[in-house]
Amino acid sequence: MTTPGNIEAECGQRKADKHRGWLRYSLRMSQFAGRSVAVVEDEATIREAVCTALSREGYAAEAFGDGMSAWEAFVRGKPDVVILDIGLPKLDGLEVCRRLRGLSDTIAIIFLTSREDEFDRVLGLEIGADDYLCKPFSMRELMARVKVLLRRASVAAGESASSDERPLTIGSLALDPLRLAATWKGAAVPLTVTEFLLLQSLARRPGIVKTREQLMEDTYPDRVSVTDRTIDSHVKRIRRKFESIDRMFNALESVYGAGYRYTGPSD
Ligand code: CA
Repeated sequence: MTTPGNIEAECGQRKADKHRGWLRYSLRMSQFAGRSVAVVEDEATIREAVCTALSREGYAAEAFGDGMSAWEAFVRGKPDVVILDIGLPKLDGLEVCRRLRGLSDTIAIIFLTSREDEFDRVLGLEIGADDYLCKPFSMRELMARVKVLLRRASVAAGESASSDERPLTIGSLALDPLRLAATWKGAAVPLTVTEFLLLQSLARRPGIVKTREQLMEDTYPDRVSVTDRTIDSHVKRIRRKFESIDRMFNALESVYGAGYRYTGPSD
């Protein structure tokens, strides 16, 4: 879990890296600074928290408390990304999404869903959402997804993808970094950004053991400090997600005293 509390609770050796780390982070985020991100959410506390986080990342955040006022603003000017609650007064999120897709294919849309919305993932993606997050969500997860969507849009607009961003297939596993999408034997495995980055770090070097420290570097590019146990619990959750699709899944191996490795099809 990344809470402000454990961001403060940095361990010593990582503290030395703090300034360099934050510099790297701010350089990364400046890539998309100034992009417009609209937040359509009727719960004021969530809306304000999301806007604050977006502004901190350098985005131009615009907030709306209902679907209709958002829609009227979008007709006048299209944002780059829309973070869209589903249960909204006046015009619900699904309808806003449908209308937005009529306006543009390139606006990135992320749904925020609560359990009461009984959000149908397939329907949501069918009417043109790019991504969705269930409440309560971590702000880090939302910011990472906004960044991925902006990056994907740049690649779609002709910028070339870096080697780290190209889709990767190893045996039954397929990873698409620009969609944060993982599949196992063709079935989608819903992973968080953190889980995706961790798995990707291992899968890119099948058979090679990575230490928890190396996995932290790859999984937390924003240098949020975590403990070894955090990495262990991420691995556990990733395994569980794959096992729910394939009981025989055993490609994520613990190597006692060393770390983890992804066993490729040839191992
Ligand atoms: Ca709502």
